[in-house]
Amino acid sequence: GETIGILGGGQLGRMIAMAAAQLGYRCHIYAPEGDSIAAEVSAAFTCASWDDGKAMAAFAADCAVVTYEFENVPVAPLAALGEVPLLPHPRALETAQDRLTEKRFVTGLGGTPAPFAPVDSAEDLTAAIAEIGAPGILKTRRDGYDGKGQWRIMASDDAAGLDLPGQPLIYEGFVTFFAEFSVILCRGADGDIRFFDSAHNVHESGILAVSTVPAPAALIEQVPAARELAAKVAGALDYVGVLTLEFFATEAGPVFNEMAPRVHNSGHWTIEGAVTSQFENHVRAICGLPLGGTGLAARGVEMRNLIGDEAHDWPAILADPANHLHLYGKAAARPGRKMGHVTRLTLD
Ligand code: ATP
Ligand code: MG
Ligand code: MG
Repeated sequence: GETIGILGGGQLGRMIAMAAAQLGYRCHIYAPEGDSIAAEVSAAFTCASWDDGKAMAAFAADCAVVTYEFENVPVAPLAALGEVPLLPHPRALETAQDRLTEKRFVTGLGGTPAPFAPVDSAEDLTAAIAEIGAPGILKTRRDGYDGKGQWRIMASDDAAGLDLPGQPLIYEGFVTFFAEFSVILCRGADGDIRFFDSAHNVHESGILAVSTVPAPAALIEQVPAARELAAKVAGALDYVGVLTLEFFATEAGPVFNEMAPRVHNSGHWTIEGAVTSQFENHVRAICGLPLGGTGLAARGVEMRNLIGDEAHDWPAILADPANHLHLYGKAAARPGRKMGHVTRLTLD
């Protein structure tokens, strides 16, 4: 079969590669040195820095199509991919890499994010807090994930003592939500859109802890409006592949949090819990194949992340026939690091 290139070597790339292998594709992983658990399950591994154009071109030469598994891939070096198609299109990458660009883009399509303002100086922050109010969250515009690069501002005074990092920031009002959920869709090369069920997501310390499907009724009520927005985003970007939008469910309806132009942690339950997984549908989409069904394959599903170096009773987890264990093969457990997940199907 043909070879798919994946930019990024984390667990998402690893799970894309495993789905691709099932369909007879080989994957080449492009990731900085020492940073690839995806390469272990793939046919080859290109080791280089992100801005090594030569390495990028050599990697692309073997690939029929290139995709990415994280949104912070630097865009400029991607020119070295040449004629090899990059899917989803790099515009999705550019939009989702910067929280300010992303929020403006989604607002332009009729979405409602928390009130926000760019912050490039201490004066900007004071002005933003005066305008938007506290509590709020100050975030780096770029490179944040798992709640990294965020500072909670509980009262206006909190800003005074902050040592601002020397990079563009955004201040956003704190949203009072009763739940969080995500919309994960897959758009085929022909524009066909399939939605997965929206999971109810619970975060702990800014990191996804549990995703549950089906979500509670009060949350499901907000899914149609959220899907409408997600479909507009996908259409506007001429998107091909899996796209995720995160939302806060509030009394006033869904509030857009952020988007990820990729497969998503809150969709891991689809591996066993949906007719076709997010990973397989992503591969199908970027390879121009028909998409698979996105309906539930069990009455219910719960996905629990395994985070940090917490001890687990593996035999007990595996002894329960409802459980599926996924370990990502990461050598070192650091606090907050995603080491694996357990998916539990409701079978009866
Ligand atoms: P991810 O790993 O999902 O990419 P991230 O680092 O980009 O995470 P966010 O999604 O912006 O971070 O925030 C992480 C979590 O922090 C959210 O899921 C939510 O629980 C909380 N949070 C973020 N922004 C707000 C907000 N404006 N109001 C209330 N809670 C928020
Ligand atoms: Mg994010
Ligand atoms: Mg998030």
